[in-house]
Amino acid sequence: MKKKITEISRRRFISNSACGGLATLGATGMLTSCMGTDNEIKKEVSDQGVIKSVVIRPYQLLCAVCNIGEDNTAADSEKIKAIRQNPDRPVTLVCNAGDIFAYQDPGPAEDMHGSFEFNRKRDLEILQRIDLPPGITLPGRIILHRIWDSIESVKGICDCGEMASESCKGCPKANSGFYEKGREISLLYAVPGWNSQLDFTEADLQGAQNAIIVPRTKEERTAEKERSIEAMKKAKAIGVRPHILLCAICQYGLGDRPPFETDNLPEMIQYIIKNPEAKIRIAEAADWMMCAPCPSLNKEGHCYNVKGRAGLTSQLRDVRVLHKLELSYGDVINAQELYRRIIERIPSSAMICGSISQGVEDPSVWDDECGHHTESLPEFVRGRKELAKEFGVDI
Ligand code: SF4
Ligand code: SF4
Repeated sequence: MKKKITEISRRRFISNSACGGLATLGATGMLTSCMGTDNEIKKEVSDQGVIKSVVIRPYQLLCAVCNIGEDNTAADSEKIKAIRQNPDRPVTLVCNAGDIFAYQDPGPAEDMHGSFEFNRKRDLEILQRIDLPPGITLPGRIILHRIWDSIESVKGICDCGEMASESCKGCPKANSGFYEKGREISLLYAVPGWNSQLDFTEADLQGAQNAIIVPRTKEERTAEKERSIEAMKKAKAIGVRPHILLCAICQYGLGDRPPFETDNLPEMIQYIIKNPEAKIRIAEAADWMMCAPCPSLNKEGHCYNVKGRAGLTSQLRDVRVLHKLELSYGDVINAQELYRRIIERIPSSAMICGSISQGVEDPSVWDDECGHHTESLPEFVRGRKELAKEFGVDI
């Protein structure tokens, strides 16, 4: 009876973890080796289409890094291939933690290289280092960065050291250096922020073919820049997410003027200065018209700045801005009038951005480079003053 209750809870957990129209590449009974054979794929179709979430054991993510170091990504499981195809898809980490975390236990079907206890230890050692609980669902990119940042070597995780025995064999690749090399390659091509991988070109794609995260090429970003600037000039209203209206002020204060490589904000500011009739449409989240050339824009048009974490911090900044301006998503407003309102109602970057990361630090999902200030940033002060003059505001 007890077992049945656990089973039901676990199944509910896994389908709940993939709620909201996500399909799941499940963990239960899926992998028989690091290479893996997925045999249970559940699909749910939502109004927004299908997003496959991946349910995976922590050690299997480390195995994927080993495969990179071994130059053996052909061995990737379907789950790892799905993460490669979209590193921002939801990933749920499950392991046989038992006790009050038993609701997410996947069972021993994917255990490898030793006893149940060895497998529990290996998964929990990983979760301890990346400071995440079993059962957590996050965009894969966030989890990958936590692994690369916190786990330099698999020593003490995948091996058994002096305790090697029949019940604790350890992975034969634990001391091969594959993980360490795979981590180096992964970090070489990772895109932690909007100003990363600026010189990554089409010629570099061949070298990056094993990496899980492959940067956007300079050529692609340049072409998208041209296309989006053309679109901006033709638009009835320019799509901009709320908080980057303020970033445009910081950039102006820093002296950034067109052409600007990683976003279209300096171009937008010049355009609205020269076109008093220009309008802005308040976009919900990253909008291609401003973000098209950014290294942190994914194929689905979502922002993965700050190792994927800006998905949260930027949304909070956005709604803080809307609250101050008494505006809603989708509103269309004269651009100069909008900037006058921003300059009057938001005198400091600290009130929107400065406290976003209050009390936390990397790798918290609330940590952000702009989130740790109590006084308005000097560039915001300067940009606001200069734009107040442009738009005729007395401050
Ligand atoms: S402080 Fe705020 S407005 Fe300025 S660049 Fe950072 S996020 Fe943008
Ligand atoms: S994609 Fe994100 S980081 Fe890049 S410009 Fe847009 S909001 Fe900023």
